[in-house]
Amino acid sequence: MKVAFTSDNIAGASDAVFHAMMEAAQGDAMPYGHDEGTEQVTHMLSELFECDLAVFLVSTGTAANVLSISALTPPWGSVLCHSESHLLNDESTAPEFYAGGARFVGVRGADAKIDPVQLKKVINQKVGDVHSCQASAVSVSQVTEVGSVYSLPELRAITDVAKAAGLPVHMDGARFTNALVALDCSPAEMTWKAGVDVVSFGATKNGVMAAEAIVVFKHSLESKGIDSERVVQELGFRRKRGGHLHSKMRLLSAQMVAYLTDDLWLNNANHANTMMSMLQDGLKDIPDVMIDTPAQANMLFCRMPLAMIDFLQKEGFGFYTGRWEEGVIRLVTSFRTPKEGVDAFINATRRFSAISD
Ligand SMILES: *Cc1c(COP(=O)(O)O)cnc(C)c1O
Repeated sequence: MKVAFTSDNIAGASDAVFHAMMEAAQGDAMPYGHDEGTEQVTHMLSELFECDLAVFLVSTGTAANVLSISALTPPWGSVLCHSESHLLNDESTAPEFYAGGARFVGVRGADAKIDPVQLKKVINQKVGDVHSCQASAVSVSQVTEVGSVYSLPELRAITDVAKAAGLPVHMDGARFTNALVALDCSPAEMTWKAGVDVVSFGATKNGVMAAEAIVVFKHSLESKGIDSERVVQELGFRRKRGGHLHSKMRLLSAQMVAYLTDDLWLNNANHANTMMSMLQDGLKDIPDVMIDTPAQANMLFCRMPLAMIDFLQKEGFGFYTGRWEEGVIRLVTSFRTPKEGVDAFINATRRFSAISD
């Protein structure tokens, strides 16, 4: 059977999400988020995160990231993120565009996780020097771009450095739920309790058609002396200015409500992570296959001989390769990856390995 591990955004959307959209498409509702569904999303997210918060729905993860950060940095600021982050490598110049030309600076660290020692060094460079950009915000990706997951102490080590400098922390949660399920902790523990102030709460990759939520933990910003009302007000204006205030917001809200109902979000992420864990278990014993960074959620980077990559592609399996070092492939499972597909991939890899020995 043919199956693709290209990305988790190649899968469509969960049925419940589409049914909810069809229902929301009936009758009339006030536009621009002045509808009951949008109010419900805020209510559901505030229960989920166990605090008072502000929510801004947008339709892409890039918009969620760059809008969030634009409200946290002045144009002369520098936003510190990992050198391999989506912000730096996969969002064109949207970060600079939305943040008024602020500089995005890559910080190194193993497994695509920011090294807190490096972070501290960068933050303390040329403080107050008008000739240099001034560290203004920190952004972490959870899950990271190589499929690793920050543990809660690892997150805390980074946010402590940020807090000591009074900097807000943003989390790119394009795969938020995959990380949450991997850590088996509460959403509050993985965010504001760990020192994160604003989250791009991703849903699209985990079963929604197109909806992401910018979630602002107001009390968390206040604890750093940052005026949360200003941030929230700015986000409203910035979302509209950036062309991301949907008039038929109810269709986005309906997706998010369905996503958060009956544990759909958790079940979807659980499935994706389970499929990855099976895939990784199957691959790790195959000679010629080398796991790069062990997958903790639903993404795995590994290395294999070029002939094996060629064979798997000819067998009809989809995955990205050629974007990294030669021989590196990326495998991503989704809420809809079939178990038979995982087995088929492992079997084909094993078969090729046996023949070529
Ligand atoms: C997919 C992804 C995003 C969002 O990308 P869009 O294509 O704009 O939806 C953001 N961050 C990470 C780490 C991602 O993988």
